[in-house]
This record gives sequence, structure tokens and C-alpha cells, in this order.
Amino acid sequence: MNFPILPGSTIGILGSGQLGRMLAIAARQLGYRVAVYSPDTDTPAGQVADVEAVGDYLDEERLADFAQRVSVITFEFENVPSIASEVAARHTLVRPAGRVLHTTQERLREKTFLRDNGFPTTPFREVKTHTDLHAAVRDLGLPAVLKTASFGYDGKGQQKVYAQSDLAEVFASLKGATGIYEAFVDFEKEISVVAARTADGQFAAFPVFENRHANHILDVTFAPAAIGPHLAQEAVELARGILEKLGVVGLLTVELFVTKSGQLVVNELAPRTHNSGHLTMDACVTSQFEQQVRAVCCLPLGSTALRAPAAMANLLGDVWAKGEPNWAAALADPDVKLHLYGKAEPRVGRKMGHLNACGLSVEAAIARVTAARERLVS
Ligand code: AMP
Repeated sequence: MNFPILPGSTIGILGSGQLGRMLAIAARQLGYRVAVYSPDTDTPAGQVADVEAVGDYLDEERLADFAQRVSVITFEFENVPSIASEVAARHTLVRPAGRVLHTTQERLREKTFLRDNGFPTTPFREVKTHTDLHAAVRDLGLPAVLKTASFGYDGKGQQKVYAQSDLAEVFASLKGATGIYEAFVDFEKEISVVAARTADGQFAAFPVFENRHANHILDVTFAPAAIGPHLAQEAVELARGILEKLGVVGLLTVELFVTKSGQLVVNELAPRTHNSGHLTMDACVTSQFEQQVRAVCCLPLGSTALRAPAAMANLLGDVWAKGEPNWAAALADPDVKLHLYGKAEPRVGRKMGHLNACGLSVEAAIARVTAARERLVS
């Protein structure tokens, strides 16, 4: 079904966090109506949508009713149970399709898909029992990373394994969940590619982003990544291959490691917009959120060109530790752009907003957003 879904139609979003909020704002700018569905109320996305539907992802009746009222359903959160996308697909278009979510919401399925299709990943093993863990250590060696296969993000449910003597403790940390044991990648840097694909086969990728983490949470992203043009092209072609093989209609983010010898290794896929793509809002001709709208509505994709070197700094709840942040001090630099997500409770580690800026160089852009963030707590 390659017909365009035109402005004036209603886009349904499953999930209601900040990615849904920025998607809803982009959709409304393009003249669409927006309905969001999640179990919560007064959500970041619900605050800016036309309709905030509240229901469990397993409530088939409510989901069916929601799906009947929208022209297309897309996601801002991939851990929606498969049944939700199956029910929705009986009533409307679901983009990307449920099978894309199914593959990408569980690390073992995701890595198996990548490996079996010839995309580079680190060697891995499934770990259900103590014996599996010992066999994985024997096969893949140490150090390694043991992750829960499902529901992990921002380093949650993840342990580095250094020595045989750690095994009992790291196995216990799985708390009965299935794990994935991954050979440790001694990487030089982490990059990501956010790319879009439409039902009629258009493809567009944003410039490669380079990501720096602090305490396992994305801290700063900048673009263009400090890698050579051949490696950047290779990363984009890898993303193209993955979107095509998975049959993605919509957006998909590929998180990659660049090893010390200059090889690309795929770490993770996300079938949606991504925190590392937030700088596109102020630095690219088309934002990642507008691109998701265009992709799921089968409109021509927008230009992903970067207008200038750019950087993004995340604002976590930690910034509120000493009370209300000093917004005026941060915005004293008129080139800094503030994005807040409308979350009432600033918990430590919780993503509350971000700062974007462009500069004459990547270094200048990074300096601008990090200095503004420091002024918030001055
Ligand atoms: P993830 O939850 O898979 O995105 O992992 C969070 C972070 O942990 C990544 O951004 C990396 O910094 C690190 N990490 C994850 N997997 C590995 C690995 N196999 N080798 C080395 N570092 C890893």
C-alpha cells in the first residue's frame, strides 16, 4: 500500500514518552492530527497530542477501537507486546510492521537476525543456565558483557564479566531471566545511523552521529562523527541493508561500535527515532521526527543534510539536584536551543530534556552545549 496518507489524517502513536512528544509536534506541524496510546496519563506525548488514549497494551478491545480511529500506527517505544501490533494491524496500517518490533525487542532474536544475514555483530551465546554461562565463557572468553535478553536499555540489566570468579554473581543478576553473553568489543568509539525507508522503497539516512556515554546513558552526541568518509559511507550502507532485509517502513536506528582497527560492529537496533538523533531538530533540514512522519505516511522523504556541525547534550533529572535549573544562564548563549519533555518528576538518570547547538566546528558545538549545561547548575 504505497498511497500517501495526507495531512489532515490522524497518526496513531503507541507509547507516550519524549520521542512520541517530538514526533507528535512534528506531525502537527505538517497538519496531521495525532492520537497517542499508552497506559499512562498526562504523558510527554499526550500533552501535545489531539487525543491521549489510556489503555493497557494487552487490552485488545481498546487497542482495536484506537486503531479504527487512525490512518496509520507507528511507535515511539519498541517494547510494546507483539499482540498490540497484531491487533492494530487488523484495523489499520502499522509501520514499521509488528515483525520488525518482534525482531528488535529481544537481543537474542536481533543478534541472530544480524548474524544470519551477514551483518557484523560481536559473537554471542544464549544463557539460561549456569552451564550455559560456563560454556559461553569457554567459547567466547573474557572479558564479556552479560545482558538480559529483553527490556534492557541505557545499560540496565547489563553486567561486565571480568573473571571466572564473577560468574556466580553475574548469573544471579539475571534473576531467572534469559541472558545474552556477548564478547567484549574493545571499541574506539560509538556511532549511530538513523535511517528512513518508505513503502515505495525510498531510503534516506542522516549523517553519522558520534555518541559519548556517561554511566551507560547517552551524554553528548555530535555530527558529523569524527570518522573518515569511507567508514561513514560503510555505516550508511550497513543501515540500508538492515532496513531492507527487515522490511522496515518508517525509521530505524543502528547503534554501532567502531573498533580500534576501524571495523564496524552493530551493537543494537531501535525501530524508531533515537536520542542520538535529537540534534537533527535544529541542525538538519528535516528532523528525525518529521522524517518518521514522512516515512510512515509515504510522503517524499526530506533532506537529511546537516546545515552545520552540531551537538546535543542530554539533560537528566540530576540537573535538578539543587533545585530548579538556571534556565536563563543556559540560554544566555542565544545559539543554544532548549527542548524539555514536560515530565513533572526529575529523577536521577531520567531523561528530562536536551540542549542543541551548531558551531563552526564539532568541537565548538560540543563546547557550546556542555557549557550551557554547566550553567544550568551554576
Ligand atoms: P546496550 O544496552 O546494548 O546499548 O549497551 C549499553 C552500552 O554498553 C553500549 O553503549 C556500550 O558502551 C556498552 N556495551 C554494550 N555491549 C557491549 C559489548 N559487547 N562490548 C563492549 N561494550 C558494550
